Amino acid sequence: MPEACTIQFGKNKAFFPRGWYAYVGSAMKGLEKRMARHARQEKKRRWHIDYFLEKAQVRGLIPMPSPRREECDKSRALEEIGGIVVAQKFGSTDCKCKTHLYHFARPPMMMEDFRTALGIPTAPTHTKSKGA
Ligand SMILES: [Zn+2]
Repeated sequence: MPEACTIQFGKNKAFFPRGWYAYVGSAMKGLEKRMARHARQEKKRRWHIDYFLEKAQVRGLIPMPSPRREECDKSRALEEIGGIVVAQKFGSTDCKCKTHLYHFARPPMMMEDFRTALGIPTAPTHTKSKGA
């Protein structure tokens, strides 16, 4: 998020400080399509994240294919590593999570904790090892 701003999403509204954010979503079918959609500028606004992305720039998309819905587990993992809740119930109106969008002071992709929490390989390229 290049500049702090207030965004209305659904019935809620929140102030988003400038900085880095990580959002967890799921698309049980059509993961690639959903990710391409998040990266695209032109679209009808449907989900909370669409409103957020009107103001923010997508810096990275991480596919995490899974046969089951894991977004809430991943979301909690992000809170545990220090993700800050700035918008209550953002993207989590259908579940018990406080939010599915977390604010970070530093670029989360550079944080070892972040990659570990999400179970993504430490090295962004080549190696497929799951790490410990
Ligand atoms: Zn959730």
